[in-house]
Amino acid sequence: MKIAIDGPAGAGKSTVAKMVADKLGYLYVDTGAMYRALTWKALHDNVDISSGEALVRLLNQCRLELQSDSASQRVVLNGRDITEAIRTREVSNHVSEVASHPQVREAMVELQREMATKGNVVMDGRDIGTYVIPDADVKIYLTASLEERARRRYEELRVKGHEVSFEEIKQEILERDDKDRKRDTAPLQKAADALTVDTTGLSITEVVNCILNIVHQ
Ligand code: C5P
Repeated sequence: MKIAIDGPAGAGKSTVAKMVADKLGYLYVDTGAMYRALTWKALHDNVDISSGEALVRLLNQCRLELQSDSASQRVVLNGRDITEAIRTREVSNHVSEVASHPQVREAMVELQREMATKGNVVMDGRDIGTYVIPDADVKIYLTASLEERARRRYEELRVKGHEVSFEEIKQEILERDDKDRKRDTAPLQKAADALTVDTTGLSITEVVNCILNIVHQ
């Protein structure tokens, strides 16, 4: 079975999708982590992120691994664990530009489709149900109010010791969603046959159970 989970930034996709995959014993693929890893590498190596060509060249030199165990998912690039490094605000604020290049998307989607052929999978992102695996058995559009999504991101950053204002985070989320919705290639949108799950006010366990109920229907 293939499960596609899409939605805007901060809706809780990664946490929920990983837990659903663990419960079902399925492979979990965090496609946002793939775009983030390339963004981190480009910023780290001073590669021009306005050039799709340069980014694809860089991607072709990278060995990107998503390693999952029951506790976490690690993102490893050329043998280096960059799981934490790809979650910084700097990466978050540049990733939509990297992901807007058609050449970059083409290369990423090829990798993602290959992973989806390996058997049962939960894949989360922005274009999974609409473009990467349009034949997915279950499609979820996971969302929450902007206030709630910003509050979650804000608390996550505060726990890590970052000095940020709530308004700044809210603005950054708005801008990222806007770029993801307006890009020309496979923009963020709800697939016509996706079920919307609004997580505003719900706990993680409630959201996971809600999705498992949909899967078992
Ligand atoms: O899911 P996450 O917030 O980690 O995704 C980071 C960014 O990667 C998104 O804001 C979007 O620009 C890009 N992305 C994408 N297509 C996907 C997954 C992520 O364009 N399937």
